[in-house]
Amino acid sequence: MQCIINRRAQFLASHHYSLPELSEAENRAKFGLSSKFPGQGHNYTLFISLAGELDEYGMVLNLSDVKQVIKREVTNPLDFSYLNDVWPEFQETLSTNENIARVIWQRLKPHLAVVGVRLYEQPLLYADYTGNGNEASLSISTHFSAAHRLAPNLSPEQYGKCTRTHGHNYHLEVTVAGEMDKRTGMIIDLTSLQEVVENNVVQLFDHSCINDDIPYFTNIVPTTENIAFYMSNLLASPINKLGAKLTQIRLYESSQLWVDYVGNEKEIFLTVKSEFSSAHRLAHNNLSLEKNREVYGKCSRINGHGHNYQLEVTVKGKIDDFTGMAVDLIGLNKLITDYVIEPCDHGFLNIDVPYFTEVVPTAENIAFYISNILRSPIQELGATLHKIKLVESPNNSCEIYPSSASNSFAAINFTPVLATV
Ligand SMILES: [Zn+2]
Ligand SMILES: [Zn+2]
Repeated sequence: MQCIINRRAQFLASHHYSLPELSEAENRAKFGLSSKFPGQGHNYTLFISLAGELDEYGMVLNLSDVKQVIKREVTNPLDFSYLNDVWPEFQETLSTNENIARVIWQRLKPHLAVVGVRLYEQPLLYADYTGNGNEASLSISTHFSAAHRLAPNLSPEQYGKCTRTHGHNYHLEVTVAGEMDKRTGMIIDLTSLQEVVENNVVQLFDHSCINDDIPYFTNIVPTTENIAFYMSNLLASPINKLGAKLTQIRLYESSQLWVDYVGNEKEIFLTVKSEFSSAHRLAHNNLSLEKNREVYGKCSRINGHGHNYQLEVTVKGKIDDFTGMAVDLIGLNKLITDYVIEPCDHGFLNIDVPYFTEVVPTAENIAFYISNILRSPIQELGATLHKIKLVESPNNSCEIYPSSASNSFAAINFTPVLATV
């Protein structure tokens, strides 16, 4: 089975949205404040996703090699640069977020098995490029605060405090896809997209009690799953009118729980995030100290080191008409605690988890292990384990898609490859 690894990189750069064939007033009308002379700058954060089979050392690729290639091909040329001048591609097509992602892909492809490039211009705006011609996607974020209760239908005995009226700061990510304009590099007018989300969703939900103020939820339980589904219905057609396609709604009820809806009837992806703190040492029992050092570098130091691992477990299910839920959340949380957090947290993986006395606990192998032990119990809850993502450090994470036949590109395109770290 394939594994996807994600490597983070960063660069600072400035750019200017202005086309020489247009007058100053036309540029201003088309690009707004971004056309202001002499331009503006961003702290860009880049995530490169690479796919491959695990090698004999439990890794997809040696990360220090990957780091060197990204540095040489991308961050060294772009860091502290003026993007309009640095690469000829940006004279042909403006250096929008989506176009920079596309060009970075093209420059890395000859060297790495890249399957996705995600570029954040700022924390609330990112673009994804997955190698599909001029097509890219763009995600914007916003938030709203609302009250809700899990009612009607649900018994307080089973659903406890959630049946009382309470509230959340919801964080919403809206992803749209489309063809980049060959000259402007844009798939959609960003300001118009932000207005559509504000007018159709935020104004309706913000500072409301969802059960009492939004008629759709009079008889439908306002679970995160149902809210995301409803928002998709509100946004799909206005976004179409802007010339792009709504491809995903991601709704966070908290930083530990979110859902993704990708427009496929009542199918929903629900993610629970948890954390465990463990020590590990990357070294193969059958290899010499020198060989382990050569393969795993500092990670092979004999007394080990540790991480706060962030684990994201994503399950796929259908929204139940009665409960509004895709999976029994209490049951899912219990599985993760019993199978993963309890055995791994505050332990030395190589010693305390029997599986890793024989297998090197690389992030990839840990993700495989978790995927294998959770798959059947999640099936018994009536859902499907869709993805395990393990974030080992802000720079490195890996992903496994156990339910997809071949962890292929389709699966990657269909779901978010990366989350904000
Ligand atoms: Zn709630
Ligand atoms: Zn480590």
